[in-house]
Amino acid sequence: MSTRVRYAPSPTGLQHIGGIRTALFNWLFAHSTGGKFVLRLEDTDRTRYDPAFEQNLYDTFTWLGIYWDEGPDVKGPFAPYVQSQRNELYQKYANELLDKGQAYRCFCSSQRLEEIRAQREAAKSQETGYDRHCRNIECEESDRRAKSGESFTIRLKIPLNNTDNSAAITRFYDKLLGDIEWKNSDINPDPVLLKSDGFPTYHLANIVDDHLMGITHVLRAQEWLSSTPLHAILYKAFGWEPPVFCHLPMVMGQDGKKLSKRHGAASVDEFRRQGYLPEALINYTALLGCSYEEGKDIYTKDELGKLFSVDKLNKAPAVFDYKKLEWYNSHYIRMKSNKELAALSLPWAIEQGLFGTGKDGGSLTEKEMELYTAAMDLVRERANYLPDIPAKLGYLFSEPPLPQAEEFIPKKSDQKNAYALLHMGKDMIPSFFPDGKAASDEEIENMVKEKAEKESVKLGDLLMPLRVAITGSRVSPPLFASIRLLGETRCLARINSALTILAGD
Ligand code: GLU
Ligand code: ZN
Repeated sequence: MSTRVRYAPSPTGLQHIGGIRTALFNWLFAHSTGGKFVLRLEDTDRTRYDPAFEQNLYDTFTWLGIYWDEGPDVKGPFAPYVQSQRNELYQKYANELLDKGQAYRCFCSSQRLEEIRAQREAAKSQETGYDRHCRNIECEESDRRAKSGESFTIRLKIPLNNTDNSAAITRFYDKLLGDIEWKNSDINPDPVLLKSDGFPTYHLANIVDDHLMGITHVLRAQEWLSSTPLHAILYKAFGWEPPVFCHLPMVMGQDGKKLSKRHGAASVDEFRRQGYLPEALINYTALLGCSYEEGKDIYTKDELGKLFSVDKLNKAPAVFDYKKLEWYNSHYIRMKSNKELAALSLPWAIEQGLFGTGKDGGSLTEKEMELYTAAMDLVRERANYLPDIPAKLGYLFSEPPLPQAEEFIPKKSDQKNAYALLHMGKDMIPSFFPDGKAASDEEIENMVKEKAEKESVKLGDLLMPLRVAITGSRVSPPLFASIRLLGETRCLARINSALTILAGD
């Protein structure tokens, strides 16, 4: 039997790192087993639903490059894949449980339920949840009250005793955690399956859909583990074969608490805004709670899709390490071509006003884009995030403010000497551009080295004032490449301005 797995988010918030981990593991599972990956929107909570969150879901996964085989946007044999469009089905199945005596109508008003809660609180009672008040209403009476228009919910009858009167226990198997046992008395008493407005609750809709959509494996976060006994009871009540459950290890912050905004970026939107690459996020997230080969860190999505297996999952929670993710990000930045990196970082370049304020992508000249693209070589090795890239390149696009004279002076030297050194640099500039075209960085380097030797000056001393004059700073991207990209005229103009500073006292 081929496998079918699903990601079943509720569009009540932005896509979060925990959610994409669940989606990714399901995608990897489907790919590693040659199965199908389904997206199902669990939008039954209409009060918290927002179309913006649904859009965020599609945007996030398009950005990540994770696609489903079936889902609301791509259709499939089990459509619709949106729970709010499947209401009739849930009603039908809730009624089926009513007929089988596995569920019952509860006519309690929300006011009554609130009163019990308040009474228990006042009496400091340990009991929580529904008091099973309507569990024993006779069928005829229940039907009559429903017909007369009384409002009701449908609740699941959780078995409390076995036929031999021993306390009922629910058992299910989890592929990662093994056999699990749960006392029925510890399950939320008779939870609502169908609300009075006719909408299902998560439990009913989730089980009906997993069954009807032929889901074979449920890989979801461990926080859902406490719902699973209830789901196991529901499968039994319907007489359906449950899927294989596999609850994924939790994702924690460094402090051992569930990963949240307090720890740093948590929504994918935020990671994206901070200049992470999808490849980094996927590679790192895929390793959260999963061990592959010892000592190997870098995997593409397709490699992971071949290697993934539930046997490689850890039971222990995974700790989300932002430093490690940064390492992945800088790795994937390094793997990009100049053209790719320029395109990826361009929005930040524009936002930072690199090409002047008011410039947008459309008004960039070809020359500006060419220079920006070529400049990627200068910063690729030093950028951890996309916005770091334009941040280091300001001096290529506008004249950097030149610092005061002291900044130009090498160690154990003085202003007069710095002036002489910079002059030496200036004299070399035309030779870097034989026939008006720039020599290679290596050729420039050799010329500078030769000059330093010939003039008996330290290479570092010769370069320091030149670097400050060209880039405006003692610390900068590679100098020779900067000279090459700026061209002879701009270099000479900057050096002349710097010489004026050094000539003063
Ligand atoms: N709708 C649930 C969620 O928001 C689905 C949980 C499950 O996978 O069963 O995550
Ligand atoms: Zn009731």
